[in-house]
Amino acid sequence: MPRNKTFAVTLDQDLCKGSDCYICVNACPKGVLAEGERITSKGLRPAQVKDPDACTGCRICETLCPDLAITISDTSQAATTVPAVGRRQPASPSSGGWTTSPGALKPGPHYMMGDDACAEGAIAAGCAFYAGYPITPASEIMLRMATRLPETGGVFVQMEDEIASMAAVIGASWSGLKGMTATAGPGFSLMMENIGYACMTETPCVVVDIQRAGPSTGQASRPASGDIMQAKWGTHGGVEIIALVPWSVQEMYDLTIRAFNLSERFRVPVILLGDAIVGHLRESFHVEETVELFDRAKVPGAPPFGTEEEAGVPPMPAFGQGERLLITGSTHNEFGIRKTADPEVQQRLVRRLSRKIVAHLDEITDYELYYEDDAQRMVIAYGSTARSALWAVKRARDHGEKVGMLRLKSIWPFPGEVIRQWGDACQELIVPETNLGQVSQLVQQHATTPVSLVSQTNGEIMDPRRVTDFLLDGRTKLAS
Ligand code: SF4
Ligand code: SF4
Repeated sequence: MPRNKTFAVTLDQDLCKGSDCYICVNACPKGVLAEGERITSKGLRPAQVKDPDACTGCRICETLCPDLAITISDTSQAATTVPAVGRRQPASPSSGGWTTSPGALKPGPHYMMGDDACAEGAIAAGCAFYAGYPITPASEIMLRMATRLPETGGVFVQMEDEIASMAAVIGASWSGLKGMTATAGPGFSLMMENIGYACMTETPCVVVDIQRAGPSTGQASRPASGDIMQAKWGTHGGVEIIALVPWSVQEMYDLTIRAFNLSERFRVPVILLGDAIVGHLRESFHVEETVELFDRAKVPGAPPFGTEEEAGVPPMPAFGQGERLLITGSTHNEFGIRKTADPEVQQRLVRRLSRKIVAHLDEITDYELYYEDDAQRMVIAYGSTARSALWAVKRARDHGEKVGMLRLKSIWPFPGEVIRQWGDACQELIVPETNLGQVSQLVQQHATTPVSLVSQTNGEIMDPRRVTDFLLDGRTKLAS
């Protein structure tokens, strides 16, 4: 307990919710604070400072107050030479934005497994924290991070489960670090609550889901792409999410870096939706000499949860750098103060969380086209299935079929306008998938032209002959 010191107790009655709370009144061991006597225009009766001279500076009230209404100042501090420490240290301002950094691997060709390339992409992107729980076919990511992070000054933690892993990554992000976790199937299900929390608290982080055949524990380690809908709709409340879908070891590296950049740019969890094929595939990939990295903005004193712009991304302070941070998954105003009964705050928040993503589709949407110039039919594919689909498109063209292919590299937000344009330009859209048609349903929503599904759910890589048969023979050989 501080001795020979005096303290000033400041209670902002405009922030205090009064008789709904009175946590500080009940917590103060010295009776400094008391229930209020004045009723405000909002109908609240805020707490009051009744006996300021009795304050011992324990800061219990300041710590417990959920609305940051109380400030305890050491009025004898001017006479001391003790420097401010911890959270009282001012943060260095940073406007954030793009920088160029040397990569973590030697530039040039490398040969490794997709999961390992994902881990290397994370290191190159500046990931300094990994928390995870092992699960096939994503375990190799965790294994490599456990080796590589200590070498690069980062922190690796094995958690007790995926719920805790996701929570730890969120906490690391608020301490100013770039963080990642990786999982599969059942682990991804467990992460859903905290992914929603990360969306609501605008916490940048990367979640890698190496998809495997489900439902439930299903065929552990066998490939499938059954988590497309879950990536967006698995958490409650309706959120916009960003999800990327690599098809190669090269993209397990490149898109992991991109996932970090997008998460920092938009302050959102970004999901890398790999699958057991691209995760366990070994092939060569190229590492550039430098990496373009985006870092979150840090503006001391700026509200961390709101901007003037409807689609704005606020700057993000960190714990321990002088800011008084209140982070909550409940509806909050621009300073993080809970406003759960305020319809205007809720509407403004929910809309901005959506608009900061959908108003920037041009920065997020990514795809590649193949043989599109004369295409009358267009295959729409993603992930490892696109490898089989492209082989099939080439065989079909050998037989004179005017087939092209659109490969999605980003799948959320769904690139509906791109689909609409190619639907208008073609006579048929064909969607091969290792699920029961999750993306083909989305394509149908955005296209007026006929859409066909080539579905395979046997836990094997999409058979290229299956797609070829469909392209050559139409729907007579539609897979079941
Ligand atoms: S804890 Fe904060 S909000 Fe609650 S009564 Fe005290 S000052 Fe008001
Ligand atoms: S700092 Fe401690 S003693 Fe002072 S008002 Fe707060 S709880 Fe009471």
